[in-house]
Amino acid sequence: MKKKPICANCANPYGTRKTTTQTFKWQKGEPPPKYRGNQVVVRETMIRQAPHNVTGSIHGVPFGHNDNVAERRLWDGQSYYLPYKPFCTLRCALAYARAAHAEHIRNTDESPEQREFETS
Ligand SMILES: [Zn+2]
Repeated sequence: MKKKPICANCANPYGTRKTTTQTFKWQKGEPPPKYRGNQVVVRETMIRQAPHNVTGSIHGVPFGHNDNVAERRLWDGQSYYLPYKPFCTLRCALAYARAAHAEHIRNTDESPEQREFETS
């Protein structure tokens, strides 16, 4: 499995696993069907336990009175949700930008005040 990336500012691992949800059912008294794909099962959650008075469908899976219904969250082992890559948060992106800016000021003789006068 792929490890979480490291934030370019604070060096902490970050990111949320991108998962998909699979709904499945099985008859009361039988063992629940095992997952047979090549993804990682992150969590299984029971939605309805037989017997119950409701029939219908959940996420396109029809169920009857004696069906158990559950959901499993699957992860491909690689994909992360990383909206601020390569940073964990906008706060870290801003801190990094300010530090880079301060470093730039140190490396040139220009002070921020001088720059303001030059451009206005
Ligand atoms: Zn960070």
